[in-house]
Amino acid sequence: MGMRLVFLGPPGAGKGTQAKMVAEKRRIPHISTGDMLREGKTEAARKVKAIMDRGELVPDEVVLALVESRLDSDWKDGFILDGYPRNVAQAKDLEGSLARRGATLDRVVAFELDEEAAVRRMGGRRSCPACGAVYHLESNPPRKKAGACDKCGGALVLRKDDEPETVRRRMQEYRKKTAALIDHYRERGLLTTVAAEGEVDEVARRVEAALSGTCPSGAIAPHTRGSGGGAR
Ligand code: ADP
Ligand code: AMP
Repeated sequence: MGMRLVFLGPPGAGKGTQAKMVAEKRRIPHISTGDMLREGKTEAARKVKAIMDRGELVPDEVVLALVESRLDSDWKDGFILDGYPRNVAQAKDLEGSLARRGATLDRVVAFELDEEAAVRRMGGRRSCPACGAVYHLESNPPRKKAGACDKCGGALVLRKDDEPETVRRRMQEYRKKTAALIDHYRERGLLTTVAAEGEVDEVARRVEAALSGTCPSGAIAPHTRGSGGGAR
């Protein structure tokens, strides 16, 4: 049975990048509410586009409906929730939703990155609207052709909510509403923090250490390499 995980952290911390890697490696579904909203497959998702473009959180019931639809098919295989929950009410919604299925979360991984670094990551992020692939102008540029997605050839864009004004708003939303979840999950014994600075592969090793149980309820520090030690 796959693990049931939540990836938490400020926008731009690298949650999606790491979630995709873990999902592939462990063969568990990656559920990103941001991606689902951007896909705009439901009427409700299309209606909240303006809210997203302003960098604000969309109403809890809209994201809950999206998450429920995925949990229906995915909860048994395990999952990585990326970008959900984003406030305490959503965390309670999720708890109820899992409880109704007789399930609980296995672990919450909180990515720690200072705001300046997260803002820099968002400024350089380029996304493929066609397939959802994510690049960075400096740390992870497309290899085949500048400005085009390596996977599907689609034209890469700067997400509207990655523009500087909106990034500031999203950081405020994170501080005001989402950061409280760190204590929420710590109190429940589910939290492991992972230092999100450094290169993608380095962070991936820390995430792996957090998930493999070598440091189940502590913190994975920057010097952690692979499976051994690193708790502080
Ligand atoms: P989040 O899902 O937390 O908003 P992303 O995974 O989309 O963050 O990462 C934000 C941006 O930073 C992307 O452009 C991504 O390519 C880049 N990125 C992710 N991890 C790292 C890293 N460890 N070092 C440098 N850039 C990174
Ligand atoms: P993300 O792709 O995770 O950075 O999310 C992009 C935007 O989608 C956010 O700024 C919100 O507007 C919206 N969003 C994604 N997930 C949630 C959520 N769990 N609750 C509320 N809004 C969300």
